[in-house]
Amino acid sequence: MMGLARDRSTIGKLRQQVAMLERRLDYSREAQLLLLNKLIDAGDDARGKRCPACWEPLVDLRTLELRLCSGCGAEHPWPLDPGQQPLLGNNRQ
Ligand SMILES: [Zn+2]
Repeated sequence: MMGLARDRSTIGKLRQQVAMLERRLDYSREAQLLLLNKLIDAGDDARGKRCPACWEPLVDLRTLELRLCSGCGAEHPWPLDPGQQPLLGNNRQ
């Protein structure tokens, strides 16, 4: 009879462990989704590029053809696309 009570207690502990592991699995799944979203963001020009070093948003300095990282301050060259006009052109010519 004592053995049965011990088995029940063991089963209860194991169930707690399983529940804990399931919570951890949920967490890692969320972390993977987060990472995936970050990768999608990085590839999406419309939503703005991010620094490959520290992942902070880059500040567009189109007139200088540069992107400046708002996190670590790194400068990333940003050549204009072929045929693209600079935003601040000289209109007096
Ligand atoms: Zn950076």
